[in-house]
Amino acid sequence: MAKILLSTEKIVFVKNPMLEFNTERGMIKSKEFKNKNGLAKTSKGKKLKFAESFFIDSYHRKKRGPQIITPKDIGTIITETGLGKSSRVLDAGGGSGALSCFLANICKEVYSYEIRKDFFKLVEENKKFLGLNNLTVKNKDVYAGIEEKELDAVILDIPEPWQVLKNAEKALKLGGFLVSYQTSVVQVQRLFKEIKKKPFIFVKTCETLQRNWKIEGRVVRPEIQMLGHTGWISFFRKV
Ligand code: SAH
Repeated sequence: MAKILLSTEKIVFVKNPMLEFNTERGMIKSKEFKNKNGLAKTSKGKKLKFAESFFIDSYHRKKRGPQIITPKDIGTIITETGLGKSSRVLDAGGGSGALSCFLANICKEVYSYEIRKDFFKLVEENKKFLGLNNLTVKNKDVYAGIEEKELDAVILDIPEPWQVLKNAEKALKLGGFLVSYQTSVVQVQRLFKEIKKKPFIFVKTCETLQRNWKIEGRVVRPEIQMLGHTGWISFFRKV
C-alpha cells in the first residue's frame, strides 16, 4: 500500500514502501514505514510524517494514453447524475481509464469498453495500480452492443455517440442517464438530431470552467493561464 510523506512544503508519494526511499532529508529504510507513531526516521536523523496514501494521490500517478476527461468534468458528471455506491455504470471508450477509475472509486460496478487493444491494456494496468476490483474492462466495440442490463448510466466519450443510442436504450434502466462528452459542437448537434427519435428526455448540455487562483503573499488573483476548453457534456434520461 503506497504512502505519503507530509510536510508544510509538499506531499511526496511513496509508491512502494517495501523499498528504501530517498528524500532531500536523507534515505528512509522500508521498516520505518511500519512505525506506529507515523514518523519515519531518515539516514540524516530527520523525522518525517507519513500516512497511508489517499485514492487521489495514486490517481494522479496513473498512466496516461489518449486525452482524458479532466477532474472538473468528471465532477460535473458525478454531481449531475448523482452516481454513488449503488450505481452500475458503463463507460466507453475506456481511453486512459481516467473516468472509469474515478467512477469505480465511488460506484458499485463499472464496465469500461475500449476498442483498441493497447488502450484496453492501459485501463487494465491503471485498474490494478489503483486496486479497483469493481471495474470490469472489456476490449470491445460499444457500437456493436452492450452486454450489461439495468444500468444506472451509460457514459460516452467516443466520436459517434449516436451510434450507441439503440444499445444504450436496451442497457439502461428506466430513468437511467445517457451522458455524452464531446469536444466538438458539431458532434453535439448530430447527437441531438438523432436522439430526438428515441425515448430519451434532454436534461442539459453544459461546459464547466475552473479558474484557479494564485495566493502568495500580496499576490491574490486568478492564475493567468487556464484550461480554456475541454468539452461539452450532454445529459439525457431514458423515458
Ligand atoms: N474517457 C476516457 C478517454 C476516452 S478517449 C478517459 O477519461 O480516460 C476515447 C477512446 O474511445 C479511445 O481510447 C478510443 O480508442 C475509444 N473508442 C473509440 N470508438 C470506440 C468504440 N466504438 N468502442 C469502444 N471504444 C471506442
